[in-house]
Amino acid sequence: MQQLLLRDCWPLGPKRAADTNRRDGVDAPNMKRRRLPKASQVEKSIVLKQPNKLITVSESVPTTSTIPEMESTPSRPESRDDFRIAVFSALTLEANAVKALFDNPGDDSGRYGKAPGDFNTYTIGVLGGRNIVLVHLPRAGKSAAATAAANCRASFPNIKRALVVGICGVVSTDMEGLEIVLGDVIISDNVIEHDLGRQIPGEFVRKNTLAESLPRSSAEISSFLAKLKCDEDKQKLLRDMNMYLNLPRSKLNPLVPYPGVHNDRLFDASYPCSNQGKPRDNCGCPDSKLVPRVRLRQPPQPEVHFGLVASGDTVMKSEVDRDRIAQKEDAIAFEMESAGIWEQFPSVVVIKGACDYADSHKTKLWQPYAAATAAACLKAFLRAWTPSMPSEPGMQ
Ligand SMILES: [Zn+2]
Repeated sequence: MQQLLLRDCWPLGPKRAADTNRRDGVDAPNMKRRRLPKASQVEKSIVLKQPNKLITVSESVPTTSTIPEMESTPSRPESRDDFRIAVFSALTLEANAVKALFDNPGDDSGRYGKAPGDFNTYTIGVLGGRNIVLVHLPRAGKSAAATAAANCRASFPNIKRALVVGICGVVSTDMEGLEIVLGDVIISDNVIEHDLGRQIPGEFVRKNTLAESLPRSSAEISSFLAKLKCDEDKQKLLRDMNMYLNLPRSKLNPLVPYPGVHNDRLFDASYPCSNQGKPRDNCGCPDSKLVPRVRLRQPPQPEVHFGLVASGDTVMKSEVDRDRIAQKEDAIAFEMESAGIWEQFPSVVVIKGACDYADSHKTKLWQPYAAATAAACLKAFLRAWTPSMPSEPGMQ
């Protein structure tokens, strides 16, 4: 009989006096069994250690070590002051993907309260072994993100890391020359604001506000991203990301089927959509104008690309401007929230799934899948993250 110590996530809400019988990492009166995937399962007996007694339950346990959330559970935050990580998502489908991967059920009750004047809506949960505050942005765009981020700082004054998670448009290849296909994930600790500047005759001169006036990402995050780029660490990140994406019984999996290689259509940049007004999913543009993609010869596993994100209030739907900005700034992705959040938090990581090619053929078809890959990558990212101050509430 295998002896396992099963620690489940904390029951949500501020710690109550009745919960103080927590010993050996187990909340005895609130013990719940974690959902486990069907794949590679065998029936085993699990013995739960509790003070003065053993409880034997039948549980399905995977034969592999692919359930890292069983390894650790953070202590339950006492108050808003104990949270260190905020996750920002603008679209409902982005937030839903994050919530679907929570280690615990999540809490929308608002029981931790908010600062006066804070109109944000939050979901509290555990993701990748970390307590997080999920911030639901009211709409896309820099100004909404900046306002929400300021309110978040007022309500959760000790947030140290802000993660912007969701979907983005992408260029065709990253800075290493690797093809970017839809569903891949972009990770960045650097953002430029591509649509803020001066329009002079014949030229737009970007104002380099973020780089000049705002603090750069923390040395801790930069160092961590450097580590993640190493072959072994990146492969582990990819394995974990794909595991979370494909957990057969997760709440995420049934919602996000891969849309199919035939729907991943990158047109030549010299060929803007010639059938504007028709449904973008079937605009009738000829396949002869598609760019051949090596990775799409078969359904690809989502990849992770590290590179600069261009953020702005304008929706990028122009292959010409996409490539112009990308070449000038070395950007590999376009989105609309990170610049606003960057103004409020000095330490920001962007994790975004590629849902279109930021061109005139932009559609919404890939948004759910891209949001799911980003959420899965976020969870793998948090799992891999070793905080510098492990004694911080919510970080251990
Ligand atoms: Zn077209």
